[in-house]
Order: sequence, then C-alpha cells, then structure tokens
Amino acid sequence: MSADRGSSGGAFLQKILRSSPETELQARPGDAIELVFTREPQWSEMTARILDGTKIAAEIRAEVAAEAEALARSGIRPGLAVVLVGHNPASEVYVRGKVKSSEEVGLYSEQHTPDDSATTEELLALIADLNHRDQIDGILVQLPLPAHVDAKKVLLAVDPSKDVDGFHPLNVGYLSTQRPGLVPCTPAGVMEILERSQIPVAGRQAVVVGRSDIVGKPVAMLLLNQNATVTICHSKTPDLPEVCRRADILVAAIGRAGMVTREYVTPGATVIDVGINKITEQKEFNRFFAGNRKREETFLAKGSTLVGDVHPEVAEIAGAITPVPGGVGPLTIAMLMANTVKAARLRRGLRQPELTRA
Ligand code: NAP
Repeated sequence: MSADRGSSGGAFLQKILRSSPETELQARPGDAIELVFTREPQWSEMTARILDGTKIAAEIRAEVAAEAEALARSGIRPGLAVVLVGHNPASEVYVRGKVKSSEEVGLYSEQHTPDDSATTEELLALIADLNHRDQIDGILVQLPLPAHVDAKKVLLAVDPSKDVDGFHPLNVGYLSTQRPGLVPCTPAGVMEILERSQIPVAGRQAVVVGRSDIVGKPVAMLLLNQNATVTICHSKTPDLPEVCRRADILVAAIGRAGMVTREYVTPGATVIDVGINKITEQKEFNRFFAGNRKREETFLAKGSTLVGDVHPEVAEIAGAITPVPGGVGPLTIAMLMANTVKAARLRRGLRQPELTRA
C-alpha cells in the first residue's frame, strides 16, 4: 500500500510509514484501517535528533587536555585521588575508567583501595591526608561505601575546594546561590549536552523527574540558574505523565527502566535520559528492543544490555533525545576531568578560561 494515497489521513499515514518502514496496512474495502507495527524502529529511523554524548565528551576531554598542558607550562599538574573501598565490580569498572581518562588528558591520578573492613575513622584519616597534600586537587570517594561506614561523614570530610563530585553542602550552597564552585559531574554533563547542541534553556519549561542529591536536585538548580521554569517530580507526584507533557526539556533521572513512555512526552520536546539500567531478561529486552537484531545479538552474547529511564519508543516523537548508552553517561567522566582542572585553578586563585562549561 502506498504512502501517498489521496485521503484525509494521507499526511498521517506518510509520517507513520516514514518512521517505520516495515509498517503494514491490513484493510479490506469498507474496513477501518489498522496499523500493524512488525518491529521496533531502529535508532537510524527515529525522527528525534540524537544527542551524541560520546562526541561531546570527547570535545570536552580535548579541551581539558589543552588546559592541563597550559597549566603544565606553569609547573602545575592537576591531581585526582580516587578512593575505592572494597571490591564492588561495578565500582571497580567506573574507577578504572576514571583513572584511565585522567592519564589520557594529562592529569596526575592515584588510587586508594582500602579493603571492605575499613572503618569510618580510617577513611576519615585517609581523606584528611589527601586534603593536606598539595599534589591533590580533586578527591573522589566512589559510592557506594560499605554499609558499616558513615558515608555522609566521609563525604563531609572532603575539603570543599577538592570536592570534584560537588556533593559537599558548601558546593551545593554555591550552586544554589550562583557562586563559583564545583558542580556535580552528571548534572553538569546534562547542561553541556544542551549547550553544545544549541538547545535553548532560558524561558523554557523544564521538568526533572527525580530529586536525588546527586542528579535530580542539582540538574534542576542548573536549569533554574539558566532561567528555565523548572518543575521537579518524584515518586509522590500525581499524574506524572501530564506534568511531564508540559516540558520543553524533560530530564529523566529515576532509575526505572523505560518508565518514561510516549504518553509522557509532547512531540518535539528535548528528552535527556540520565538513567542507566541493566536488563538481563529476554521478556524485558523484547519490551524495549523487539526486532532490533543488532542489539539482540549483543544482548544474547553478553547476557545483558543497558536501557535508560526513557522507553526507546520516545525517540519517535521527541525533537531531540540522548541515547543509552552513549548519551549522558560519557559526560560524567569528562566533567570529572574538567572539575579536577577547575579545582586546581580555583585553589590557586587562577582565572577560569573562557569556556562554555559550568
Ligand atoms: P535515586 O537516588 O534512586 O533517585 C531516584 C529518584 O527518582 C527519586 O527522587 C525518586 O523519588 C524518583 N522516582 C523513583 N520512582 C519514581 C516513580 N515511579 N515516579 C516518579 N519518580 C520516581 O537515583 P539517582 O542516583 O538520582 O539516579 C537516577 C538514575 O540515573 C539511575 O538510573 C542511575 O543509574 C542513573 N545515573 C546515571 C549517571 C550517569 O553517569 N549517566 C550518574 C548517576 C546516576 P523519591 O525521591 O520520591 O523516592
């Protein structure tokens, strides 16, 4: 059946057929037309502009490398200390990535790996030592810490001027009062994606789903500081889809695989998917990626795949969207590198270079 049949529904049919070429029409004379989707559209067929986080992160890392080189000419080599307690396989992967990335951009880095039995006091002593060492500009305590450790106390002990995660209450206060400070990496990465993709923020309606101290609240504050009108939603927000549909910019930081479906999104909105959820069940895979053969091959080989908090179907109606993986994720490490250089400058009272970064 052709896409350009002269009927009142012609324009609609054309749009559907373009975004999903394997759509088939089953109709007999006099029947209502029924659309049957034989498979999920692939990323390449999506109507949304894909915001390529991998590319943006590479740009930022290149800028950080240039800044590190300029600082090196003045005898300064920004240094990052990563504290990884115990043996959490996911944390070990993240920390390896952070250390490797530091080396690539020319930062000094060191790892501290106390074992699972480390006490709060021992960790406080380690942090105190790192706070005092001039070679160290950034301190990152990889979360989660073992259950017996007082994580809040440990994070509070990090010198705010070396708090490259931006979790210290002083940095939270600087962010909310728009003073120079260290901004949490993932939220700062979200703003980089918007800025470098020329997506206007000022005057737009932004809806953030999630209110964690790590993602939801700081991203909402950054959007507010950029003059968006911001709504923050959480698990007690009634009629979430209706609230989300008001968004020009929708940020999902929930931790629930594919929760944000088409009904949450106004066509044309920008959707930033912060979520990273691992799925291992074929049934779940089919719910998100049925018919995506390339992804299924990888899923079957690895036994898992990643899905964001946004259902892949949203790419059919959003104006722009971050993929998972390859969207917000790569920005987190890039912004950690940027924060380490920023901390090195702030601590020495050096001017920040003219960059677009927060
Ligand atoms: P979190 O601390 O668990 O916070 C989740 C937030 O979502 C909470 O505010 C919660 O509301 C809200 N929420 C949960 N279920 C909801 C529902 N059914 N309806 C509405 N709101 C709901 O998680 P997080 O640390 O912010 O992380 C969020 C996601 O981002 C996770 O998938 C995480 O893996 C990912 N993440 C990615 C990166 C990255 O580098 N890309 C970095 C950090 C986190 P309440 O406050 O009411 O409980």
